[in-house]
Amino acid sequence: MDASLGTAYKSNTQLARCITENWASAYLYCAACRNNALEASPPNTKAVDLSCLSCGANYQLKSGRKWNQRRIPDAAYNAMIAAIESDRTPNLLVMQYSSMWRVENLMLIPSFFFAKSCVEKRKPLGAQARRAGWVGCNIRLDAIAPEGKLTIVQSGVPAAVDVIRESYEKLRPLSQIPAQVRGWTLDLLRILQTLPTAHFALNDVYAREAELAALHPGNKHVRAKIRQQLQVLRDAGLLTFNGRGIYRLK
Ligand SMILES: [Zn+2]
Repeated sequence: MDASLGTAYKSNTQLARCITENWASAYLYCAACRNNALEASPPNTKAVDLSCLSCGANYQLKSGRKWNQRRIPDAAYNAMIAAIESDRTPNLLVMQYSSMWRVENLMLIPSFFFAKSCVEKRKPLGAQARRAGWVGCNIRLDAIAPEGKLTIVQSGVPAAVDVIRESYEKLRPLSQIPAQVRGWTLDLLRILQTLPTAHFALNDVYAREAELAALHPGNKHVRAKIRQQLQVLRDAGLLTFNGRGIYRLK
């Protein structure tokens, strides 16, 4: 990255923002279509740092020197929940850079991979804070199904652009599921990922009923919901059903 770009800034946060966003708009491509350029948003655009002028995909870039794969801080809790409910979340780019401003790791989470279960409420800011009472949130990266984390750069080595676009395309059917039910679909997908094998029976999923019930306390018919969501995943092409009670994750 070009570290000379940020010299006009006094705050480290603003400096890092300027340098990383400049790099992203110069070198990043759209994963959702074949456009090889992303446009930086006008200053102070909320939640969107980069956009694809070809397909309209929006991207938010979160960067830091530390690489925390469990959680990253995001903006206001209520705004994030509202964005998920109304399907307005941008694609999320999580970047780690080195002290020499080298891009070490870069991960892309498609916009339709955010469920309410991956948003964690932070403690309200104390009375001394400028924005006292404000409630922020963390994005729990470890609560996002592994399929939803595309590795664009790993230890300084970039992945092939075609591979990233292909992975994004494979996941796209999930975006067609209405936002109100997608949380269920994503939570189930994440749980299926933790089963010992890619082949499993309905009873293997029922065994995890309590976990899903805890994530969706309002729902009294968890088993019916599991069966319905297995069908949704099958229709989205993420799961096959062999007809003898055995499912297989793709
Ligand atoms: Zn695009």
